Amino acid sequence: MRIIMLGPPGSGKGTRAHIISELYGMPIITTGGMLRGAVREKTEYGQKAKSYMDRGDLVPDNIVNGIVKERMSKPDVAKGFILDGYPRSVNQADTLDEILKEKGIKLTHALSVVLSDEVIIERLSKRRGCPVCYEIYHLVSKPPKKEGVCDRCGAKLILREDDKEDVIKYRLQVYKENTHQLLERYERLGLIVESDGEIPLEGLRDHLKEILG
Ligand code: AMP
Repeated sequence: MRIIMLGPPGSGKGTRAHIISELYGMPIITTGGMLRGAVREKTEYGQKAKSYMDRGDLVPDNIVNGIVKERMSKPDVAKGFILDGYPRSVNQADTLDEILKEKGIKLTHALSVVLSDEVIIERLSKRRGCPVCYEIYHLVSKPPKKEGVCDRCGAKLILREDDKEDVIKYRLQVYKENTHQLLERYERLGLIVESDGEIPLEGLRDHLKEILG
């Protein structure tokens, strides 16, 4: 399977990508994760990307396309892949088409996660992360045992710069402007499979097996 994950920030693309990866043994290629890694390691890409990410803007296409091209050249991609958070613009979708054409392969699914803005804001503004081991918490649905402290490694939990409420609202606007048109593109190709963003975690495995066939 060769899958792209579409859907607004905080809709559960990452959670679904992990379950699919486990179910079918395929690598996840997550541009958000790779960019955050580059920021942490202060690489040239990371330094360029940071300010865009902190304010919730899309990182320029040439940077993201470069990262994805490099990742897609690795041998594990032959098993299939899950692209999480890419493409996010028409330019990126065109680049992905070129990458796939060169390899002589096609996408099999565009999994679109659907969730309302209200639920997304509630989810992301209450999300907290560990800056040391990267465990993720939610103040209501998955609180740490001790307030503000990571259960796993004891570090002080933080709110991601781009999970602050005003930045979330801006990210949603950016999503609607840039990414929404991709839905029409992949709909025309008959690749869209919808996933309700409110399905509880316990039911996700079965749900994903069912919709991916
Ligand atoms: P995410 O974790 O997927 O929500 O991504 C976090 C941030 O990384 C986004 O708000 C963007 O600034 C940047 N980013 C991730 N993927 C892309 C992409 N495909 N194109 C441009 N920017 C991206």
